[in-house]
This record gives sequence, structure tokens and C-alpha cells, in this order.
Amino acid sequence: CEEEAKITKRPAMDCIYKNPNAHIEDRIKDLLSRMTLKEKIGQMTQIERGVATPEALKDLSIGSILSAGGSGPFENALSSDWADMVDRYQKSALESRLGIPLIYGIDAVHGNNSIYGATIFPHNIGLGATRDGDLARRIGAATALEVRASGIHYTFAPCIAVCKDPRWGRCYESYGEDTDIVRKMTPIVSGLQGEPPKGHPNGYPFMAGRNNIIACAKHFVGDGGTKRGKNEGDTILPYDDLEKVHMAAFLDCISQGVCTVMASYSSWNGRKLHSDHFLLTEVLKNKLGFKGILISDWEGLDRLWKPHGSNYRYCISSAINAGIDMVMVPLRFEQFVDDLTFLVESEEVPISRIDDAVERILRVKFVAGLFEYPFSDKSLLDTVGCKLHRELAREAVRKSLVLLKNGKNPEKTFLPLDRNAKRIFVTGSHADDLGYQCGGWTKTWYGLSGRITIGMQLYSPAPTSLHHFSLFSSCATILDAIKEAVGEETEVIYEKYPSPDTLAEQNFSFAIVAVGEEPYAEATGDNLELLIPFDGSDVINSVAEKIPTLAILITGRPVVVEPQVLEKVDALVAAWLPGSEGGGIADVVFGDYDFTGRLPQTWFRKVEQLPMNAADNAYDPLFPLGFGLACNKEKPLD
Ligand code: BGC
Repeated sequence: CEEEAKITKRPAMDCIYKNPNAHIEDRIKDLLSRMTLKEKIGQMTQIERGVATPEALKDLSIGSILSAGGSGPFENALSSDWADMVDRYQKSALESRLGIPLIYGIDAVHGNNSIYGATIFPHNIGLGATRDGDLARRIGAATALEVRASGIHYTFAPCIAVCKDPRWGRCYESYGEDTDIVRKMTPIVSGLQGEPPKGHPNGYPFMAGRNNIIACAKHFVGDGGTKRGKNEGDTILPYDDLEKVHMAAFLDCISQGVCTVMASYSSWNGRKLHSDHFLLTEVLKNKLGFKGILISDWEGLDRLWKPHGSNYRYCISSAINAGIDMVMVPLRFEQFVDDLTFLVESEEVPISRIDDAVERILRVKFVAGLFEYPFSDKSLLDTVGCKLHRELAREAVRKSLVLLKNGKNPEKTFLPLDRNAKRIFVTGSHADDLGYQCGGWTKTWYGLSGRITIGMQLYSPAPTSLHHFSLFSSCATILDAIKEAVGEETEVIYEKYPSPDTLAEQNFSFAIVAVGEEPYAEATGDNLELLIPFDGSDVINSVAEKIPTLAILITGRPVVVEPQVLEKVDALVAAWLPGSEGGGIADVVFGDYDFTGRLPQTWFRKVEQLPMNAADNAYDPLFPLGFGLACNKEKPLD
């Protein structure tokens, strides 16, 4: 402030923005009045960690840094290393002329999933199966602690897409196909940011304290409603339906003071959301009263449609004029800053729009207490992967399991399994693989153990090992969990792929077969066939022909279950993408807890039926939305 006073010749005590006791709106006004255009545009810019030099942070007053998707070279770094790294960036930001702190963001979408040792919760589809909003809130609070322990202030979560078609590669990031299910899970925002007091003004951002982080309701709006579930596709709907189906959960988040909203890559009736002034400004900001930051998606501006002869500047002006406040700029951020400066100077983007955007950004920074507490709090480090959080994740796994079949006839149930059986056969591609259990957005964007093609390049990440996940190695695969749960005398035989010799042995009490999808993220998961990879159906069939079998599906969505598979298995469980705590599966299949999960997505018979709508007369699913058995018939699910 002293420094600033020298330049502006205003007395230092005039620095209202530095006074924690001043009203936030006064602090914003004061700070905004001191900012140059360059600093304002810098604040509107969010850059990837890899290009964030101390000079850029100081000279351009960059508003935010992100580690997108995975964490790159930091894949195996400890939370304490992360905290030191974020603090170093923060130090540079504070050395900028006005000392405005930066926000560091990450995709902590099922726990602090990029960071070594963190608790990995089930992906949203599994949480949707629980229908338990308070569980979502507690998971939000635990995630906030683990993120904050790593020095990070911001998560790009929750994804509150209403996924209408499981062919979409982000189906597992959605809580379900039904608006009410998604709405039920929105208390996760109050877990992440803290619960606003009664009477908190609707739409005004809120954050309780240093144990909380900034949340982001994404992706506004209609991302889950695209034709054939195409990622970044087009959602064709009348406005009233868009509002009723896809916007309702945003209202819930806004009323909890969600600090940020992310625009969707998708289009609505042919128009890209990133340039839709009606939806972004007239609806989100004016009608719904959202006063926080509207952030673009990664390269969201670059992906806008450009008329012939126009360039990136056209994309910038369309998006900023439509209402985007902060731009997630992947690499060419200097060009973004130059272009937006040009657009303001040539009055193609009004300065009032820039001021509005910067006010919103500063508002969130003040609300989040970043001016007072810009640095990490090392006392939180003990929370990362702590016992309490792993217990919570295990509870979530237990509650997320959906029992689809139990016994070959209604009189004779198969589950719960006998933990004291003599010999148990465990098999399947997903029985002993944490990477598969966790799915995409785990350590890397596409997860671990997945094979993936981006452009022409094939990425084959190293096989998943415990080393990737935990210092405490208390996280468990399904196999680990079974071994832990069974009696001392019980022999557990494991083969990843069942050999004919083993199957011929005939002396197993029962088999547990876990098969499912490979990890994927976004468009790489768009899939028009939805078959179980690695010949999963054949594996189930071959085992179930010889041994009484429980089949467990580890998938981010309903997949094709062929009639003969369903007929042959004795029991079938949808376990979704449960995360690091496989113990939750053992808890339920061995009967310590009963099944309570219910389908958050309709289980189709054939892909030709998609998209399915439970309200259609012709609705003929394999298992309907909401289906889920319990072992204890005396206590049916509600
Ligand atoms: C995704 C967002 C995510 C962002 C940053 C984008 O590709 O659509 O959901 O938050 O990347 O990783």
C-alpha cells in the first residue's frame, strides 16, 4: 500500500481494499479504481501452471493458475510439495503492483484426485446412487480439507450435469439422469465452501473459512442433454425444458453461494454456450442473480465458431461480451491479454464489461479471505488421506452399490456371501486394479491404467500400483478387500483371467468376477456401443457356467448386459467407479451392511433404445431408474 501510495500520491490509509474490516463491496470499488486496464485483464486470465512464470504473475497481475485434469510432472508429489509450490506462485502474485492474491484451481472432482496420498471418493454417478445429500456435503467438506492442505483454493466441481444419455463420456461425472437426483446432491457445495448463514443474499458468493475451498458448478448449461450423448455436442430443447431439466440444480448451487460457474463447451439449439449472451448474462447473471465468477472452460474461447475471415479476437469479444468473466487460457495467454486490450481500446468490448468481470473476480477473492490468508496452512496436512476421510469414502462406496440380481429364483437369494467359505475364486480385469476402480480424473486426466488415443498418439500409462495412490497403502482393490474380509481358514484364489484348468477344479464355494470399463475422460469416453471391454461378458459367462458367481461391474455408466449373462450369474452388482476404498464392496457383499443404492441411470437393454426416458409409455428398460434390491427382504428400500 505504501508503494502504491507513492505512485498514486494517495495516502496509504486510503487503501480500503487492504482493510479486512471494510465492507467487501467498498474494498472492491477501491481496488478497482486503482487498477490499470492491463491489470484488469490480467485478473481475468487463468493460466496453466506450466506457463506461469514469476514475471507473468508480477507484471500482468494474472488472476489465477490451474493444474488442468491431471497434474503432469507433479503426479506423484506430496501435498506438502504442492503447498510449497502454490505458495511460491502466490508470493510472486503478491509482488505485483497492487499485491492481488491469485486463486489456484484444480479438478478435485472425487476427492483431491490429482494428489498423491489423497482419499479418492466414488465418482458422482455412484454418489447419485446413494441419493444422500448429507453424504455429498460431508464428502465436500473432506475434499476441501485435502485440497486446502495442498495449498489449493479452488476446485472445478461439482459437475451438476443431468446426463440424459450414457453414451456420453462424462456420464460418470453426473449424479444421474434425473433432475431431482442431481438436485439432491448439490449440498456438496456447502461442504466445499461451508454453509452460508440463514438470510445470506441469494447469488452472492460465500466461503466459511480456511478449511473451505471455492466451488464451481459446471457446466452451464445443458451439457448432459446433447444429441446421442456427444461430448461438446448440441442440446436441442425449448427454453422452458432447458430451465426445468438442466438449470434447476444451478439454482440450488447459487442459493448456497457457489462462488463460480463454468460455461459448457456444448451448444444450445446450435449456439455455443460460451458466446450465448442470453443464457450467460440475461439468465445466469440477471435472472438467477449469480454474482460470482463465470469462468470459461479450457480452450472454451478457442473452440468457438469463427465466421470466415475472422480470428481469435472475434472469439474473445463474443465470449467476454456474452458474460465470461475469467478465461481459462491454456497456452497463448499473452496473446489473449494483447487481444483483449485491443478490443477494449477499440471499444469492441466495453470497459464496463471488464469492470463487471473484475469486480466479480475480486469479490470471490475477498470472500475467500485470500487477501488476509494468501498462503497454505500446513496444519491441514494431516487430513490428506486420513483415516476419517477413508472411512467416509468407504461409507460412500457401501451406499453406492446397486444390487441388480440376487439369486436365480426369488425364493433362494445368493447374497450375502459366506465369509467363511472354504475356497473363493476371484477373477476379472477389474478385481485387482485401483486405476480401474478410480476411473478418469485420477492422477491424470484420463486416469490410470487406461489406454487412450489423443489425436494420433497412443498413450499407455504405466500399470497402476499402490505406489501411485498412497503413502499409507490403506486403499484397497476389490481383491485386497475380499482377503481382508474373509475368515482365517478361507482360501482366496485369484487369477486376472480365469484359466480353464482353474475353472475345471470345481471345488470353489463361489466366484467373484469383477469386470468393467477402462478409464476415460470427456470425449475419449464417448461410446456408441457400451460393451464391456476385455471380453467382460465372456469372462462372466465362462466362470458362471462352472461356479456360482457374483459379477461386479466397475463402470461409469450402465453397459450392455446380455440376456445370457444376466441369466447365468447368481448375483449382479453395479459398483460404478468406487475409488480407493474397495473395502466398502466387501462390507456389503459379505453382509455387514445391506444394499441401499438405487439406479441413478436407467439400465437399458440395447443401445438402440437410447436415450431412454422414464416418462415415456414405451419405456422398457432392463432395470428402471431407481431400481435396487436389498438382501433383507423384510426391510425393502423405500
Ligand atoms: C473440462 C472441465 C475441466 C477443465 C480443466 C475441461 O476439459 O471440460 O470440466 O474443469 O478441463 O481441467
